[in-house]
Amino acid sequence: MTVHQLIYYSRNKTPGDDRTQLINLREILSASQRNNGRDGITGYLIFDKSWFVQILEGDRAKVSETYTRIARDTRHGMSTVMNTRDVAERSFPEWTMGGAMRSIDVQEVYLSHGFGGPIDPTKVKWEKLFALALDLNEFERTRRSAHKQAS
Ligand code: FAD
Repeated sequence: MTVHQLIYYSRNKTPGDDRTQLINLREILSASQRNNGRDGITGYLIFDKSWFVQILEGDRAKVSETYTRIARDTRHGMSTVMNTRDVAERSFPEWTMGGAMRSIDVQEVYLSHGFGGPIDPTKVKWEKLFALALDLNEFERTRRSAHKQAS
């Protein structure tokens, strides 16, 4: 059975400082984890303050239904699908929705993908953002497992 993947970007519309943005992201991830667990959706959300880039993967109808709901959310705008495709397996199987706000902790991952400054997804190919999401996910996974071993 194939897995449907959709990648889109959108512009953040929530004003405020880093703390407000972090609370905003936590609320989004919490609703995402609740709903995506129910719907068999996994993926990753990149949040670079001005922009969101999200990958949704799962059953085609569920991915489409989830994206339609997300696109209506007033916390962001200019939602634009960059690519859809069917793949043999999930790229983010361990997350109902992983994601992190860009911070100094993950700057090295952004730098390794050539993103020294803010991301402008309107000017970047989807493949480049997909590769960044995979590495951010891997970075987080390695950090978590090191943390677990240490405790
Ligand atoms: P609730 O979370 O109970 O929300 C009820 C209603 O209030 C919804 O219409 C919701 O949009 C709105 N709402 C809630 N909080 C706020 C707020 N702080 N400001 C304005 N309106 C608000 N949802 C998923 O299920 N999966 C995802 O992967 C996912 N990714 C997202 C990515 C982004 C960038 C954004 C902005 C939102 C994302 N969401 C995702 C949230 C989605 O848009 C809906 O808010 C959510 O699915 C609704 O969940 P719910 O039915 O449990 O309603």
